[in-house]
Amino acid sequence: MYRKGSGQHSSEEPTCAGKVVVSIVQKNQPVQERFILLNYAVYNPVMGYTQGMSDLLAPILTELRDEAETFWCFVGLMQCTIFFSSPKDTDMEINLNYLRELVRLMVPEFDCHLQHHADGMELLFAHRWILLCFKREFPESQALNMWEACWAHYQTDYFHLFLCVAIIAIYGEDVIAQDLRTDEMLLYFSNLAMHMDGDLVLRKARGLLHQFRLLPKIPCTLAKICELCGPGMWDSGYAPVVECVGNHGNHSCPHGGHDPALKYM
Ligand SMILES: [Zn+2]
Repeated sequence: MYRKGSGQHSSEEPTCAGKVVVSIVQKNQPVQERFILLNYAVYNPVMGYTQGMSDLLAPILTELRDEAETFWCFVGLMQCTIFFSSPKDTDMEINLNYLRELVRLMVPEFDCHLQHHADGMELLFAHRWILLCFKREFPESQALNMWEACWAHYQTDYFHLFLCVAIIAIYGEDVIAQDLRTDEMLLYFSNLAMHMDGDLVLRKARGLLHQFRLLPKIPCTLAKICELCGPGMWDSGYAPVVECVGNHGNHSCPHGGHDPALKYM
């Protein structure tokens, strides 16, 4: 295992959990990658090894070129990713709910297309974007720029969703023009992987975030999109009106203007 700050790993070999995953971690992976993933499985046996982890590990190793430092960065990264909440999938569902709302608000014509196709609202094409943080969609250098933009938590904890909306806004027109079905949409966006303009997507996402921040009114479903990042995006007199859009089932909504209890507040 790696000792924090030592810069080296000890001679201890991964045991138990490590042995279980040794057959799962791909044999053709570079030795360093494989060793770090095995150590991670020992460090965090509950999570162990999940397919896709190496996608997130590889760029860190390339950047840091130090096994021990990469390991601890990877530990930190995993805590910020959706992997950490798996297999419950609640985190993915939260992300998809926000994404649906953002698309409805910012790319209404694409939202309309989704609503007219069975399972369109599942946003299947965006699952990999969110899970692997665009690592498979853009060359490594561009993906790293996107990671940095996300980790900055500038004005929102969900900048990755603005990147998703940017991709949809830039490349979604053909989907609508060709009236693609759900499975065809999945194929269309998969085929775009490594062929999209990462700089353009990043610029567009920043523009969308700015546009979102200036909205006079936002739905209650997006009220928490910047809750975790300190003061968030509405800290200087831009605070929008939060409008309840209903559909809360049995849950009450703090923004439900029609709740009789609220008129006394
Ligand atoms: Zn509401």
